[in-house]
Amino acid sequence: MLTRRALLELATVGAAAAAVPPANPPFTLPKLPYAYDALEPYIDAQTMQIHHDKHHQTYVDNLNKVVAAEPALAGMTVDELLQRLDTLPAAVRTAVRNQGGGHANHSLLWETLAPAGKGGKPGGRLAAALDQAFGGVDGFLTKLQAAALGVFGSGWAWLSLDAANKLSLDPAANQDSPLLAARRPLLCVDVWEHAYYLKYQNRRAEYLKAIPNVINWDYVTARYEKLAG
Ligand code: MN
Repeated sequence: MLTRRALLELATVGAAAAAVPPANPPFTLPKLPYAYDALEPYIDAQTMQIHHDKHHQTYVDNLNKVVAAEPALAGMTVDELLQRLDTLPAAVRTAVRNQGGGHANHSLLWETLAPAGKGGKPGGRLAAALDQAFGGVDGFLTKLQAAALGVFGSGWAWLSLDAANKLSLDPAANQDSPLLAARRPLLCVDVWEHAYYLKYQNRRAEYLKAIPNVINWDYVTARYEKLAG
């Protein structure tokens, strides 16, 4: 049984997918870097297919519509849109925050996941930073799961780098990105029901226990090296 919220999310996806996107849209759906079933049994293939092909595509399509209707947004990357949200025309800020956040967040999410046994371990300076901030990888994962479990309603848990290059672990509501708060995102956990409801139903904690099996630490380590400078 799907909850009312999950059904509403699916209905929203169907309605938006039927609309025609603008010609030559600036934003496109990135390819999933593995097969839909690559994260089984931790994240099921049907969830991955709907999540990527329908939910993420809808954020992309809606962001393209927002940008097409507001010339002041032309030429900006999605990261720039979110980092400069307060400088954008007030009328489009909420739409950019939600649709741009949805596009940016999911684009990173796919990269930070990997088939079980293929994601490696935190390396180099990231491993040292996790030790310092969270008492090690296990300590980090425990706190990540707690942050994600504590999100009321739809949202995310984020590991990001703050302006001082320190690791920050934070919950976020809806599609809010760390970029809104001048932090640079490293790793995320999606706790919208569309991310887990088909397999786990209401058991968010069980879904979160599965996540450490499919984290792409090699990607996150490389991203840390790049962003931390
Ligand atoms: Mn999602």
